[in-house]
Amino acid sequence: MRTPGVLARAVLLCHDCGVPALITSQFPKSPVAALASGERSRVALRAALLARGSEQEELFSLARRARDATWPVREVETRSVIELSNVCQQSCNYCSMAKESKLKRYVIKQGQLMERVEFLHALGRRVLVLQSGENDSDNFVGHVAKCVAEIKRRFPDLELILSLGNLSHRQYVRLREAGAERYNLKFETSSPSLYSMWKPGDSLDQRLACLRDLIAIGFKTGTGNITGMPGQSLDDVIDDLLLLGKLDLTMMSCTVFIPGEMCGYRDEPMGDVDIALNQMALMRILYLTRLMPTTSCLERGKKGGQLAGLMAGANTVTIHDGTPEEFKKLFPIYSTDRCSPDQARCAAIVHDAGLSFGKAPLI
Ligand code: SAM
Repeated sequence: MRTPGVLARAVLLCHDCGVPALITSQFPKSPVAALASGERSRVALRAALLARGSEQEELFSLARRARDATWPVREVETRSVIELSNVCQQSCNYCSMAKESKLKRYVIKQGQLMERVEFLHALGRRVLVLQSGENDSDNFVGHVAKCVAEIKRRFPDLELILSLGNLSHRQYVRLREAGAERYNLKFETSSPSLYSMWKPGDSLDQRLACLRDLIAIGFKTGTGNITGMPGQSLDDVIDDLLLLGKLDLTMMSCTVFIPGEMCGYRDEPMGDVDIALNQMALMRILYLTRLMPTTSCLERGKKGGQLAGLMAGANTVTIHDGTPEEFKKLFPIYSTDRCSPDQARCAAIVHDAGLSFGKAPLI
């Protein structure tokens, strides 16, 4: 399962010339000034990804201005997540729930799920994420479709975001018809060879076909990448940024690689949180109107990382209060010692970023 680690901290090789990317960061003028005046060249994007200190502060400030001009109400979309099931057919090397992992498997039954939904609705949540491992059995998809229909029947004002991985066109249609409005499916990387290395048995073509299906079926769709992964170069991250621009999306996201103790890449180094934050700032500057979360893996990678995500232009937080306590440890998405922000913690970072809980309207 192990593969050579190339992108760790700042060890990033430039595809074009093969020299350490830090050397290529000698951008002639401030990359932020260049971006502010509309420059979008790979050289400018590379320099911005490597920004540190006052240059990074300027980059974040440009991203915040872009966000606040688009959403002047300064509210973030507040979601709760329910991790429906950890049953997974995939062998992703970065994920602790890969089918090879020895985790005890679970699927939440409809009754228990509805209790959680009722609880979250009473708290005032109006956007829920239903997430699971990838399981394309009609049995499981049928179960989710029934749950979605029941949630929408009892709580029509709840908006549902599904994150269930690759399914067939027919299955996506079934879930859309059951009432789910949005779907998150990360392409993970725009490089076909990295994709096959990180996710043996799956292909980027297949993932992109699923994304196109979701968009065509009418889901408001989100996608994104993981940065700091084994074998990934800075140019791969730039390609990821550019791929985001080729898709008709409502949401976009970037996570930083966390080597969970139970995943195939457990001995690889953690990704560089600053590069992930700089990438998020670029995503905001390039793609103004999309919702973008600040995720708990940023905090896991660096203290204050999740607040920094909001300072870099994010406008969504996910509160980890949906999954029943007994299943939380069985969904170790980044690590068994996972940072699962509760309502108080999310409220604190949102407040510290000068924002408030609410619902950034979809644009
Ligand atoms: N199984 C579904 C799928 O593959 O789309 C959805 C759930 S999956 C656990 C959610 C996302 O978490 C993945 O798309 C991946 O980008 C991210 N992820 C998983 N493990 C990660 C890790 N160790 N570090 C960073 N991101 C990770």
